[in-house]
Amino acid sequence: MGFTRIQEKLKILADAAKYDVSCASSGSKRSNTNKGLGDATGMGICHSYTEDGRCVSLLKILLTNHCIFDCAYCVTRKSNDIKRAAFQVQEVVDLTINFYRRNYIEGLFLSSGIFKSADYTMERLVAVAKKLRTEEKFNGYIHLKSIPGASDELMKEAGLYADRLSVNIEIPTKEGLKLLAPEKNREDFIKPMIKVKNEIIQYKSEKKLIKSTPLFAPGGQSTQMIIGASGESDQQIMWTSNYFYKKFELKRVYYSGYIPISYDSHLPHIGTEVPMLRENRLYQTDWLMRFYGFEVHEILNESHKNLDLEVDPKLGWALRNLEYFPVDVNTADREMLARIPGVGMKSVHKIIQARRFRRLNWEHLQRIGIAMNRAKYFLVCASQDFERRDLTGPQLKSLILQNTTSKYQKTLSPQLNLFE
Ligand code: SF4
Repeated sequence: MGFTRIQEKLKILADAAKYDVSCASSGSKRSNTNKGLGDATGMGICHSYTEDGRCVSLLKILLTNHCIFDCAYCVTRKSNDIKRAAFQVQEVVDLTINFYRRNYIEGLFLSSGIFKSADYTMERLVAVAKKLRTEEKFNGYIHLKSIPGASDELMKEAGLYADRLSVNIEIPTKEGLKLLAPEKNREDFIKPMIKVKNEIIQYKSEKKLIKSTPLFAPGGQSTQMIIGASGESDQQIMWTSNYFYKKFELKRVYYSGYIPISYDSHLPHIGTEVPMLRENRLYQTDWLMRFYGFEVHEILNESHKNLDLEVDPKLGWALRNLEYFPVDVNTADREMLARIPGVGMKSVHKIIQARRFRRLNWEHLQRIGIAMNRAKYFLVCASQDFERRDLTGPQLKSLILQNTTSKYQKTLSPQLNLFE
């Protein structure tokens, strides 16, 4: 297989992988200076974060963009007239090792379209990871995409070689999936997740007893949902997310705004991309659920099915629940401090530390780094001058927006209106 053909495959299969956001990605600017294999410019190098917060660069590719399925939202679907390619197992191993030796990458993110069957494809993904670990003694990061419907045996093997496993839910609701990917079955996503969750628990408990027990997917498992392809509300999306976090102990759920790529009566029109701001608001809500003690129904419920794009979800919640404010920063408990708009968890920690020694005033809070433009309306401190307390939620919102620049400007796209 010539160098040019490998390069061509790399171009096709790295480009096809960019739609998967299960590892946060950004293009690499590193270019080839010695005419060797592995010019990283635009060739599938992305960045991701490990459990301990380290940023790692990964080779992000598909094993193949051939697929037997025809999911309407996917660029790789079989009816789409695109250039196809497939790597051999050894080619992915060689590419990874070559890129690794040149310091272009620290790991591999490997996904795939489905060749003949789920198991046939999964076997090849596992074979790549196994060769890297056992033959090449590769200790870099490996994130393997699990193929829905793959057998328990293959999932177990995958976890022994990969740091992280993920299986994409794709569409947030069963109904949406049925409409856009009728050949797919939600159970096929769930089965591998259950297997991975159980194995992680089992291996962890065995490791406590027997030190030599190997690691099993130490980075846990994650999933991705496509947002805006099937008209779900933010409430439905976050309920699904919450369910998967709790039921399968996922490390992360990723939200990927659907990019209209084809004319299909079931899908949003071309040119109506999901605004980046909607993705951001979903991530902020996800964060509030995982680290700030919020329940989904507090932020999204029957009266508020979609997130307000103009203000962040914590501010939105505070504006609808003014009866909880103002919060006295010198006496409030951790949970309530975390609910003040503009106060992050680091600031909560600093406030609790600092107030042991003095009563905190505006100046102290500013030094701690809280976002005073929002926070000042929702708290009291040792300073005597208070912000206005006689405003309603909508009045307060417009006051905050007036005093805030670009970050909260409206960036609505036509797609949001489509499903109202
Ligand atoms: S099975 Fe996966 S790769 Fe194949 S068309 Fe559906 S989403 Fe795309």
